[in-house]
Amino acid sequence: MTSKTIELSLDEIFNLAKASLLKHGANEENADAVANTVTNAERDGSLSHGLFRIPGYIKALQSKKVDGSAKPEIKEVTPTIFRCDAKNGFAPLAHKYSLKPLIEAAHKFGIAGVAIQRSHHFAALWPEVETISENGLVGLTSVSYTPAVAPAGGTTALFGTNPMSFAWPRPGKNPIVFDMATSSMAKGEIQIAARDGHSVPLGTGLSSSGELTTDASEIDKGVLLPFGGHKGSVIALMIELLSGPLVGETFSYETKERDNGDGGPVQGGQFILALSPEICSGKDTSDQIEQFINKYNEIDGVRLPGARRHKNREDNGPRQVNAELINTIIRLRDDS
Ligand code: NDP
Repeated sequence: MTSKTIELSLDEIFNLAKASLLKHGANEENADAVANTVTNAERDGSLSHGLFRIPGYIKALQSKKVDGSAKPEIKEVTPTIFRCDAKNGFAPLAHKYSLKPLIEAAHKFGIAGVAIQRSHHFAALWPEVETISENGLVGLTSVSYTPAVAPAGGTTALFGTNPMSFAWPRPGKNPIVFDMATSSMAKGEIQIAARDGHSVPLGTGLSSSGELTTDASEIDKGVLLPFGGHKGSVIALMIELLSGPLVGETFSYETKERDNGDGGPVQGGQFILALSPEICSGKDTSDQIEQFINKYNEIDGVRLPGARRHKNREDNGPRQVNAELINTIIRLRDDS
């Protein structure tokens, strides 16, 4: 089944996202940061984290779960560790405030980390690490969410879809960057497959009765499985620890217990690490990196992670967006 689409320019996407957020109580700074994240996701073809997320952002504003006027506060705990209190706001503004001191400290000391607390993350993670890499540093980040994934061998959800993202800088070029859920598939992708009536590969998840199925709507009601069997499961476990207790925040199951269930982004933590390859290695490794990438690209059938998004980014033209979604957002924007 192919869904109908409407063509929108990137400016129209930004304006629609921002106006709908402003309408429901976000202030200028928060609406701008979230609309920017949403537009960049549409531009790069990260469709499950673009306009698709606007109704959820708005639900969280309507229920007052998220403070649309939040102003994040950054504390320098040590010269290399920062703590950001997102003040119950959307994550993109917490990133805007946190990344500058993080990047400065990593350039000075070789390593720096930020523990983000009380933040509502509803997006892809590559914007954070790409910003770090655009500044010549290696970036690594992860977040947890609410239970949707059963640990390997089980049928009960305990882990969030727990994404992690990593970026390595390449001066004058796009970074090497991957950004992946540790579930077999991101929850947003399952929801889109369910909406569009597409099936998913066997092994993606289990129905509510614990059976393997290719039906995305059944998995949406049941549980996802980790990617790569027990190996993905242990990485998801690590992300629970890094994005929860390490940063003074909750595990996915605790996050769910305090959430109001409005369908909008839950409150949780995020861990972001920045490293300087120059300071760690004591030299300029860019030629070595480029030689490695040449060897990588010489192998038939391979491509670099991030290459699909970076290719999409070269096109500044209009994007085709699901018509039903656009009409929903227009109704939310014009809601009186
Ligand atoms: P994918 O499985 O689509 O892709 C994972 C990574 O692998 C991407 O970096 C992708 O690069 C790369 N890749 C894909 N195919 C290849 C290939 N053939 N060779 C080399 N690299 C490849 O992502 P997911 O579905 O797991 O995750 C989607 C998004 O969902 C992520 O952005 C994640 O941050 C987000 N998410 C957010 C959550 C939240 O709570 N905020 C929760 C869970 C997920 P490319 O992009 O270029 O295709």
